[in-house]
Amino acid sequence: VDAIVRSYRMRTGMFGRVTDLRAVDGVSLDIRRGETLGLVGESGSGKSTTGRMVLGLEAPDSGSVAFDQAAMPTTGSPAWRSQRARMQMIFQDPLGALDRRWTIARQVREPFDIHAIGDDASRAARTDELLLSVGLSHDQGLRYPHELSGGQRQRAVIARALATRPDFLVCDEPVSALDVSIQAQVINLLIDLQAELGLTMLFISHDLRVVRQISRRVAVMYLGRIVELGDADHLFAAPQHPYTRALVSASPAPGRRSTERIVLTGDPPNPAARPAGCAFHPRCSHAFARCRVESPTLVEITPDRSVACHLIDAGTVPAAASEAAA
Ligand code: SF4
Ligand code: MG
Repeated sequence: VDAIVRSYRMRTGMFGRVTDLRAVDGVSLDIRRGETLGLVGESGSGKSTTGRMVLGLEAPDSGSVAFDQAAMPTTGSPAWRSQRARMQMIFQDPLGALDRRWTIARQVREPFDIHAIGDDASRAARTDELLLSVGLSHDQGLRYPHELSGGQRQRAVIARALATRPDFLVCDEPVSALDVSIQAQVINLLIDLQAELGLTMLFISHDLRVVRQISRRVAVMYLGRIVELGDADHLFAAPQHPYTRALVSASPAPGRRSTERIVLTGDPPNPAARPAGCAFHPRCSHAFARCRVESPTLVEITPDRSVACHLIDAGTVPAAASEAAA
């Protein structure tokens, strides 16, 4: 309700990992307490880098990240480490995140051992509680990672992430490696845990279908920039940016007939060869002269929608409904 009380703000500038490759190029985001913000875009759009910078796993070259309205402490410092316990990250590959030589329970309780939380009996009890909260039994906890299914492994990773009672989770493609039927179960688990624990989540995925299920707001990234941001239901119902429209048209809402599909032509985004002007212009059917020279900024067009496209300035953005009907 009062989203302003606690906010997570991020401003980043150029991020130069190799030469001048800008994975993330001036992203500003507010993640509000208790919400799930979906971050969507094709691979190479800078979603993961953004997530890592939000957690301070990578430092931005310029710009800053704040958590609870306080600047993130310097990466690696003691203050950062205690901050990090409140923020956890879940990745796509649970097998890679787990140690094959250790039982699930031992890995779930590892944070208690590292941070010396509680005595042995309470650590064991809390481990069982955590396993139960993600739908794993005590006996499943006694198994090794390879003895569980992919979905069960991801549940174990989630249990471990919750051990330090974080406020904030960054989930980077957490269900992309799972079967579609299992995806829904893990998404539902995350939705339940979020409501129960009051978690704030940044949910990163290239899959609109998944983002649609879990997000309250959605940010769409293209080549390191946010091109559209808004309430998830509204954004999926009436996407404004030409890129968002193409993505949404390729992934219609369940049960809804696909409106005319907008096919994206041209090369997929490559951060090492960012086109001048609007980076999307080589693939945009609405592109005009200005798009080739001038990069559009993210403009708030209504209180819950921001769009970066020159069509907005020009006041000529065609109504989504008319395009859908065309
Ligand atoms: Fe298309 Fe131009 Fe808008 Fe970019 S700024 S999305 S090229 S119309
Ligand atoms: Mg990624």
